[in-house]
Amino acid sequence: MAKVTVIDHPMIQHKLTIMRDKETSIAGFRRLLREIAHLMCYEVTRDLELEMIPIETPLAKIDAPAIKGKKLVFASILRAGNGLLDGMLDLIPSARVGHVGLYRDPHTLEAIEYYCKLPLDIGERLAVVLDPMLATGHSAVAALDRIKDRGARAIKFVCLVAAPEGIKTLQEAHPDVPIYAAAIDSHLNDHGYIVPGLGDAGDRLFGTK
Ligand code: URA
Repeated sequence: MAKVTVIDHPMIQHKLTIMRDKETSIAGFRRLLREIAHLMCYEVTRDLELEMIPIETPLAKIDAPAIKGKKLVFASILRAGNGLLDGMLDLIPSARVGHVGLYRDPHTLEAIEYYCKLPLDIGERLAVVLDPMLATGHSAVAALDRIKDRGARAIKFVCLVAAPEGIKTLQEAHPDVPIYAAAIDSHLNDHGYIVPGLGDAGDRLFGTK
């Protein structure tokens, strides 16, 4: 079964608490998500392979460590994934970027695809799939289905808040994909929202409500 890593660093937990507060402004919410993405990126990339490359400092020639091979693809599940994407790209600006557009059918809560654009060489890279909210897990499973269809083999899933239901659904469908979250909340409500959660991440990020 895929491993779940809760990144419980005090800085992340503090920033997440402010994000959960319904009084937090759109600008604040957006900035905090970006900052948390920086901190999560650090943990998610911890096991990237290094190789020694020759360089010359002003004082000496040395072999120094650098990340090996083709690097990353960040795959954002639209639209809230873009909030995490910005922060990830701050740390790894050379990463390739893919987008998967899915919306939730309000009645069935099933994920319906409306857009999918991914780098052609995704199979040669680590694909880091981004969605702040792992709720029912339907969008995550559907996105990972597409991403695997396009050849991705090494994949990690990164969210901010996960519901136990979403973790179970994702683990059952994609047991090879490790999950990183900043928090695992109590449950989903009847509308598929995470409780206590932080509300609709897309609306809070983009001010659409
Ligand atoms: N999507 C959100 O933005 N929030 C939730 O609580 C669940 C799904």
